Amino acid sequence: MPRRTRPATADRFATLAIHAGQAPDPTTGAIMTPIYATSTYVQEKPGVHKGYDYSRTNNPTRAALESNLAALEGARYGLAFSSGCGAADTLLGGLLKTGDHVVSGSDVYGGTYRLFTRVFRKFGVDFTFVDTSVPGAIEGAWRPATRLLWLESPSNPLLKITDLRAACGFARKHGAVSVVDNTFATPVLQQPLSLGASVVLHSTTKYLGGHSDTVGGALLMNDRALWKELKYFQNAIGAIPGPFDSWLVLRGTKTVHVRVERACENARRIAAWLSRRPEVTRIHYPGLRSDAGHAVAKKQMKDFGAMISFDMRGTLARSVRFISSTRLFALAESLGGVESLIEHPASMTHGSIPREERLKSGLTDGLVRLSVGIEDVRDLVADLEQALKR
Ligand SMILES: *Cc1c(COP(=O)(O)O)cnc(C)c1O
Repeated sequence: MPRRTRPATADRFATLAIHAGQAPDPTTGAIMTPIYATSTYVQEKPGVHKGYDYSRTNNPTRAALESNLAALEGARYGLAFSSGCGAADTLLGGLLKTGDHVVSGSDVYGGTYRLFTRVFRKFGVDFTFVDTSVPGAIEGAWRPATRLLWLESPSNPLLKITDLRAACGFARKHGAVSVVDNTFATPVLQQPLSLGASVVLHSTTKYLGGHSDTVGGALLMNDRALWKELKYFQNAIGAIPGPFDSWLVLRGTKTVHVRVERACENARRIAAWLSRRPEVTRIHYPGLRSDAGHAVAKKQMKDFGAMISFDMRGTLARSVRFISSTRLFALAESLGGVESLIEHPASMTHGSIPREERLKSGLTDGLVRLSVGIEDVRDLVADLEQALKR
């Protein structure tokens, strides 16, 4: 059967999402990438095989996912992992050694903060957390031993925007690797490699998978030497996704552009509505013209994302009552699925960050975070309205 492979670089995002890294199965013509549930591969002679010898090292379903994700980020190389944390662990474990220093955004995913402070500090890697959205903050925290710059933009959960071109340019000038966690923005809205990042990280659990049915991670990059090094550590450490999980993420990426566009549209409407409510005292959403990150977000993103966080008038108990009273917005951690979620970062996703650290970055005790899904926005607004009245 002839294998028609398309020159991936010639295509636009929506076409890549559906076709990149995928060709009809050569033995059957199956249009969907098969789930290659196998741990090993038969060899003709020792060392003579079809490119696959053991599934921790290489698996065809995972390989299709890795090419697909790379294409979406405009990257030459992709590596898939069993979770976003597995991707971060492999990156840090592979690239850093005792005595190295990392500058990180202060407002990063709680599990990333935990990995840095509870796992890698143990091995003598040092971390400085700064608000990377403030010009000059990265420069101020930089040391001769700084090897890595870790960025999230929009950040989690305060949706702060960092000027990625400036920040990654500074790291590059000082010979450091810059990593952008692009989970919130997705490659639909922002492609950090084109802004100068060395590596893009994803929790594919979120928008790329998109259906809250699997956990996964990825690293995407253009530098061949860096890819070879990280591929070595992917195999050496072993935090790889199984073929079924790889296949679920592949199915998710086919619709990511459509889902993200609709979610952004819904979020814009909800943010505008919330900003007019007397119960809401402060709203974090880069799409609002009044937001501190609006101008930079407009410059580096195609749209403003579908995450919103806000503070409410009154006590913590009031916020908790509101969060517990929504009917459509499900009370749950995670984000980026087709369904809308609501959560309380201080006690849920960011519970592992000490209170003083949290408050310093602006993450208040009562902060509410929304992951806006793709339901009918009128029903979402009605749900928030009834919960505010409780
Ligand atoms: C969820 C998340 C992670 C961690 O990914 P897992 O797949 O849960 O391990 C990292 N960064 C961000 C921004 C996330 O939302």
